Amino acid sequence: MTDFIAIDGPAGSGKSSVSKAVARKLGFGYLDTGSAYRALAWHVLAQGADTADAEAVRSAASDFPLALGLDPDIRTVRVGAADITDAIREPRVSGAVSGVARVPEVREQVNRLFRTLVAEAPYPAVVVEGRDITTVVAPDAPVRILLTAAPEVRAARRAGELAGENAAAVAEALHRRDASDSAVVDFLNAAEGVEVVDSTDLDFPQTIDAVLTVIQRRRGVHNG
Ligand code: C5P
Repeated sequence: MTDFIAIDGPAGSGKSSVSKAVARKLGFGYLDTGSAYRALAWHVLAQGADTADAEAVRSAASDFPLALGLDPDIRTVRVGAADITDAIREPRVSGAVSGVARVPEVREQVNRLFRTLVAEAPYPAVVVEGRDITTVVAPDAPVRILLTAAPEVRAARRAGELAGENAAAVAEALHRRDASDSAVVDFLNAAEGVEVVDSTDLDFPQTIDAVLTVIQRRRGVHNG
């Protein structure tokens, strides 16, 4: 059985880069669940539809040939023949993604996909990051972590990643997305049994170490 290492957190918490680095270090797989929601948002937009239209989202989801790998070094995302690895990071997709994330049937569909990908993974464990992994997708995971950071720190990190974007606009878009996302799943407060790693005052290597420490401790408990 492949173990889930479940990591949730808001945008800009460092979740993706930290999860990827941890997976590499431990020889585990890595699943970025946000990229599935982003890919579906891209797919809806590519059909000329609006993600605020739940019916259009359901219809796009019914024909959604998503290819998502688990290798932390190969981050290619495809829908059919289209390589959308970079496109799903564009602000127009980030701005539209919450619309697909609030459709319950879509969440169930992608959650089934995530569980299958992990169950069939050629790794001893997969680091799975998102918003509802510790609570909905894998509430029984041996390791469950909520990675947080103060809102102003998250906004500054995200602005640094998107070179050329206006910092204030980035902060505003991020807070708007958090507000609509947290109406769907609570990823700002840790559920019972979930360990909080607050990266506000930690740099990147320190955050990786803090997460590795939790994983070693929890897997030790689990395996012993
Ligand atoms: O993590 P990332 O910012 O790439 O996620 C993109 C979007 O996907 C989030 O803003 C949220 O709407 C949605 N999402 C979700 N549940 C997850 C992961 C992402 O609703 N487990």
